[in-house]
Formats: sequence, structure tokens, C-alpha cells
Amino acid sequence: MSARELVRVGILGGGQLARMLALAGAPLGAKFLMLDTDANACGGQVAALMHADYRDHDALARFANQVDFATFDFENVPADSAHWLAERIPVYPNPRALAVAQDRLAEKTLFQSLGIGTPAFRAVDTLAELRAAVSEIGVPSILKTRRLGYDGKGQYRLRNVEDVDAAWVALSGGRDSASLILESFVRFQRELSVIAVRSRSGEFRHWPLTRNWHHEGVLSLSLAPASVTDTMTAEALNYAKAVADQLDYVGVFALELFEVDGRLLANEMAPRVHNSGHWTIEGAECSQFENHLRAVMGLPLGDTAARGYSAMLNWIGDLPDEQAALAIPGVHWHDYGKSSRPGRKVGHATVCGHDPDQLQSRLQRLGVALDRETQVAPALGVMRSSRIA
Ligand code: AMP
Repeated sequence: MSARELVRVGILGGGQLARMLALAGAPLGAKFLMLDTDANACGGQVAALMHADYRDHDALARFANQVDFATFDFENVPADSAHWLAERIPVYPNPRALAVAQDRLAEKTLFQSLGIGTPAFRAVDTLAELRAAVSEIGVPSILKTRRLGYDGKGQYRLRNVEDVDAAWVALSGGRDSASLILESFVRFQRELSVIAVRSRSGEFRHWPLTRNWHHEGVLSLSLAPASVTDTMTAEALNYAKAVADQLDYVGVFALELFEVDGRLLANEMAPRVHNSGHWTIEGAECSQFENHLRAVMGLPLGDTAARGYSAMLNWIGDLPDEQAALAIPGVHWHDYGKSSRPGRKVGHATVCGHDPDQLQSRLQRLGVALDRETQVAPALGVMRSSRIA
């Protein structure tokens, strides 16, 4: 029996992020209840899982009765449900932060109001507005749904002005109006992310910046710490802190950035632990999952320093051979317990090294052992040409 009562943490969403939160939270004396619309959500393999719709107030009431507070693994929980819950139990991050992060227009408008650079953008509700926006922003540009887009879904790239009608049909589903946003297409040199955490008392900490590579809009590879000048690091951290303070944010969040000609533009924020921070489980003193729980549980925040150098590879669709991977020193395996399906994130591996040379040789071995040389190539490329990322 525990020396004291376990803290009961509710998580809205029961996917791999909830699963990794629960695994990190058990040593802190927390037990978890997840709520998900999928009865087989993979978090249910390591914690209690309630199967219900996020709009079902009876289910939310039962959930609220069984937990001390709630947090999220999924940012698209209806904002109304988050508000409803927040009237009954503490919810971290607060529903306003969730609502802003759910809407690309609200999010970019907030960034702009805080002096944070963004790609040029226009709200688009009709085909006529899309035409006007394209004539102002130009091409190439990207039309996105304001809500419910993730991993490159709900996006249409316009290469020339003739693409306007096809883009409208693709994202409006042929309706007369739809909530969309047009953004200029940024020819970035690098994609970077800040993973940061803010405590209940407003203390702000961040992990070293991470460099990310996407494949078909989905994160494929991350490398950390990214090699970034002090000036650019300060710019990224000022952005992240300004957003967190403005939203009175509690917990871990990610700010995704494009580096363009020495400047940073904010793409979006994720109001939760983030895929580009998975390397922190083995590669940092305290992981994003543990620090998220420390923040929401009102515990002191942990050290966010990196332990050496790390690369994270996402397994999309199906898992490679863990026997071959785990035979390589410094490789850590994460099987989310999900069935294979094209495009689905089913696991990841993190490769750690004491220095860039060791990471490079381990990553190269892993690429060969798993026949994933193309996936690891961008990281090996930068490690050969510079010290890291
Ligand atoms: P998102 O769903 O907004 O995170 O977009 C997924 C990926 O699409 C990003 O990580 C980028 O690789 C790419 N992308 C999104 N927006 C833009 C943009 N405005 N310019 C260039 N690439 C973009």
C-alpha cells in the first residue's frame, strides 16, 4: 500500500501520449483514468480507460468524479467540454489555451499580437475570399482548415492561381462556406521546435531546441540539441515564453517554428506533450512527460538539460524489427501497442550518444539494420557537415 493516497490524473484522449504520460507518472505516485472515443485506445493497456464521446456530459461527470484534475493527450477535445469540466475540476492547460491552439486563425492572431513572426495569412470563409487572399498572398501558398487539422491533414498546397477552385472543393467539401486559412508557403531552411513547460506558479523551463524533418506532413525524424545561434535560441524562447505567459499556460507545450534566412516564423503550437519531444524520455534529465505531470500536479519542475545527443525516428504504418534495433547500443524502443495501419504512428525509437560522433555511428547502424537509410539520411547529412543538427 502506498504511504499516501495516489493522485488521480484524468487524461482526455487515450493515445500514445496518454500512455507515455501514465508510464512517466506512476513513479510520481499518480494513477490515471483516460477517456477516449476508441474503446481500444492504446493508453488503455497501461491505465484505466473510459470509452465515451467527449460531448457526453454524463460520461464527463463520471470522469470528473473519479479524478483530482484533468489534462489532455488530444487537443481537439471540444472546447465546450473542456469548459464544462473546468467548472467542476481543475483542468490543465486551461480551456482558453486549448481553444486558441485548436484554431489556426486564433493561434496566428495571438502570435501576431505578441510580435511573433508568422507566415503571411488570411482568414478564408468563401471561394471569393480565397480568390482575394490568393491575390494578396500569392502562390505558392497553403490552404488549411482552421480546426481539426494535424499531421498535414486538412491542407491543400496551391502551386499556381489555377489551383484555387480545386483547393476550395478539397477543403470546403463543396459547401458555400467553410472556416479556412490561407498561408504563404514558406521556403524554410529548417524546421525547429521548442518544447517548454510552465508550472502552476508561472515558472518557465525549456528543453534544448529540436530540429525536425517531416515526410508527407508527418514528423519522421527529430535531432536534438539542434545547433542554433544564441540569438536565434533567445528569439525562439522569447516567443514560447510570451505565448505561455499570455495564455497562463500550465504544462508542456510545443511551438513549431520555421527558420527562414536567420529568422524564425511560428507555424503552430501544440497544447500538450509533443512528438518532437519524445527524445527527452531517454535524452534529457527530466522528460517532457514527467515535467508535464510535475507541472499539473504542482510539483517542482525537473531539469530539462540534454544528456548528450539524441535522434528520434517515428515508426509510421508498421513497426520495424526491434530485435535488430535493440542489438545496437544507445537505441531505445517504444511500441505503442497499436495495430498496423498506413499513416498511423505505431511507435518510435530514440538513439542516444554521448557526443555527435557516437550518435552518428549508432544512427547509421540503425538505418542499415532496419533498412531505413532514407529516413535517417537527413540527420546523418547534417552531422557530417556540421557538429549537429
Ligand atoms: P502543420 O499541420 O501546420 O503542422 O503542417 C505540417 C507540415 O507541413 C509542417 O511541419 C511543414 O513541413 C509543412 N507546412 C505547413 N505550413 C507550411 C507553410 N506555411 N509553408 C511551408 N510549409 C508548411
